[in-house]
Amino acid sequence: MSAEEPLIADLFDVDKRLSLKPVVDFNSYLRNAFGEGPCRCHRCTEGQDQAGYSLAHNFTFDNRQWHRRFASTCASDVAQVLKKAWLSYTKADLGLFGPLDLTTVKTFTEASLHPRLLALLPASGLAREVDGQWQLQAPAD
Ligand SMILES: [Zn+2]
Repeated sequence: MSAEEPLIADLFDVDKRLSLKPVVDFNSYLRNAFGEGPCRCHRCTEGQDQAGYSLAHNFTFDNRQWHRRFASTCASDVAQVLKKAWLSYTKADLGLFGPLDLTTVKTFTEASLHPRLLALLPASGLAREVDGQWQLQAPAD
């Protein structure tokens, strides 16, 4: 789906900041971060137990199975698009270490993409939830 789809602008009519390009790009990124069907990496095709993975490969959204697209979903990839959207939406820089204001992130993320957001933050290694608070971990690069 292209960033210029009129549907997106209609959905976000209440808040014009949601039509800012970096915000639209962030939503497109989330939508495209997962491919349909199970992960076909070496470990998964060998039938390894995903519970032993430090970062998840397989997910269920919209009653279907999805896998994370590794080529575009490392922590620094997610950090890059999130920082741009955050800056555009809040007019402030997002520090990549410490507590993450997930409520604000959700305000510029389409509701239908919230499951992807909540899956991708930990699966990319960018953030994790500790006692109900999301913590950013600066990407290693
Ligand atoms: Zn896999």
